Amino acid sequence: MNYDIVVLGAGISGISAAYHLKEGGVNSVVFEKNPSWGGMLDNFEINGFRFDRFVHLSFAIDEHVKEIFAKSTDFYTHTPDPFNYYRGYWVKHPAQNNLYPLPSGEKKMILEDFKKRKLKDVSEIKNYEEWLRVQFGDYFAENFPIPYTRKYWTVEPKNLETKWVGKRIYLPSIEEIEEGCETEKTPVTYYAKEMRYPKKGGYKSFLTSMVKGIDIRQNKEVIKIDIEKHKIYFSDGTQCKYKKLVSSLPLPELCKIIENTPKEVVEASEKLMCTSGYLVSLGFNKPDIPKHLWFYIYDEDILSARVYSPSLKSPENAPEGCSSLQAEIYFSRDKKINLSEDEILQHTIEKLIKMNVFKEDDLVVKNIKKEDYANVVFKHNIYENRKIVLEFLEGCNIKSIGRFGEWKYLWSDQSLISGQMAAEKILRELPDKL
Ligand SMILES: Cc1cc2nc3c(=O)[nH]c(=O)nc-3n(C[C@H](O)[C@H](O)[C@H](O)COP(=O)(O)OP(=O)(O)OC[C@H]3O[C@@H](n4cnc5c(N)ncnc54)[C@H](O)[C@@H]3O)c2cc1C
Repeated sequence: MNYDIVVLGAGISGISAAYHLKEGGVNSVVFEKNPSWGGMLDNFEINGFRFDRFVHLSFAIDEHVKEIFAKSTDFYTHTPDPFNYYRGYWVKHPAQNNLYPLPSGEKKMILEDFKKRKLKDVSEIKNYEEWLRVQFGDYFAENFPIPYTRKYWTVEPKNLETKWVGKRIYLPSIEEIEEGCETEKTPVTYYAKEMRYPKKGGYKSFLTSMVKGIDIRQNKEVIKIDIEKHKIYFSDGTQCKYKKLVSSLPLPELCKIIENTPKEVVEASEKLMCTSGYLVSLGFNKPDIPKHLWFYIYDEDILSARVYSPSLKSPENAPEGCSSLQAEIYFSRDKKINLSEDEILQHTIEKLIKMNVFKEDDLVVKNIKKEDYANVVFKHNIYENRKIVLEFLEGCNIKSIGRFGEWKYLWSDQSLISGQMAAEKILRELPDKL
């Protein structure tokens, strides 16, 4: 078959590329290796419980994205009110300005270290560990974000650079920290003011208005691309030709399947690091097990870094009278977990029971799934290696989009915009190039 425009991957970025091309009057075809569309925004069901594959809530602020989501489905609007679990204490989020439940000795040490921290200009800060110590002082840094970095980013914070942080971490004043030590009644300082979630069908329902009218071919795994002949080969033995190619495939995978990718490009792509994750999904026979929409766990003897409640996102995610939780455990080539999937599942259940989150009798569904791609890790060499790969792809006239196609810390709304940008660029190029 011959196509004008081929999009690889039916996650939100690929779907958005095809949708925005269609809006511009141009058809394309999307090839997806999985039997369903959605990528990381897809979900799965077990005995009437629905669990998202990683994504949680939409905090999109872009009006165009909000309109597409709102056009797709009715949704709930949640006010963010996350919690943190730290050595048996439940602390409001972010912990740095909500330290009230902690023992007074610990609060004193945090405050003292915060006051005596050495301030530095951001340009002089060499790595994320130093950044954390400069922002919060040693005690807080060593007991909260440094262990959390090992759990979530799977690396020592000194191995990370800092440009990715942006507004993701709240930096309180000394007065706010003092106030948070004295009272529980502190204002919410989470960076998103509201979070949306579809009433029915899981997070991917936000994409339904884009999916209508675009051509998605599922169970089509790309295994080879010949850029000279503009030819794509699939694992089912079929092939097709394209004039223009958009890809949301992870950069290291794309470099491997393009025929004759130069050695230095393959090597650069292999140096790009990401985390992988296990999703432990749990269903309960009672409605009131989850107390928080989500919480973070700082203790390093507990593998899970975060726990979300699908049934609090939408009650439709669980059968009537039931509720659910989903824990996230991260690993990578830098941090291997030497346990079987069953052992990780059992560990997670035992730890959550010990934390008094639920009782063994409450549990009616338990499942563990592995996801190869979770987060881009911002090691010091990320920018130079990413540049080598992206320049090569540009030279091949491939538009690389999405979280692992741009190799950026993109939320779903930003991944949608990434696909939209590629579509708009193609539409601008079209008349003379096709
Ligand atoms: C733990 C976690 C939590 C998150 N939480 C949120 C959140 O709360 N809110 C939010 O907005 N965003 C969240 N995100 C980010 C969001 O999930 C991503 O931005 C978005 O899903 C990325 O979409 P994408 O299209 O770029 O990639 P993907 O969804 O990964 O799409 C790529 C597609 O390509 C397909 N593919 C791969 N290889 C091939 C091949 N060889 N042939 C054919 N197809 C192939 C894949 O199957 C996949 O469908 C979260 C991400 C993670 C990891």
